[in-house]
Amino acid sequence: MNDCLFCKIIAGEIPADQVYSDDQVLVFKDINPQANVHLLMVPKIHIASLDELTSEHDSVIAHMIRQLPQLAKEQGLEDGFRTIINTGKGGGQVVFHLHIHLLGGKNLPGFG
Ligand code: AMP
Ligand code: ZN
Repeated sequence: MNDCLFCKIIAGEIPADQVYSDDQVLVFKDINPQANVHLLMVPKIHIASLDELTSEHDSVIAHMIRQLPQLAKEQGLEDGFRTIINTGKGGGQVVFHLHIHLLGGKNLPGFG
């Protein structure tokens, strides 16, 4: 996907503050954090949104979800964390490469 911002980050063409990478996923800091901890987890293959998922993606999606608790703990979020996936324009999605927001810590909206 030539035009995709997150594919460019995955390819190393655009810098990002990376915190985790494996063969299937990349995690980096959100450029405009909404809480003390605000990470974005993306699959290394281009999937535009949840709307595009098929059974072929089951294993990468499961892998992503399974990494989240460990990542949160490594960020010091021992009390818990929030995950958000925006889907489509009506869901507030701006970057059309599937991503899971991982938020937590002080300044988490709604938890003063
Ligand atoms: P969404 O509204 O769910 O599509 O979220 C897109 C997120 O990507 C927003 O929270 C942005 O702050 C974030 N973002 C946009 N550009 C970059 C970038 N170059 N590096 C890191 N995060 C970014
Ligand atoms: Zn992409």
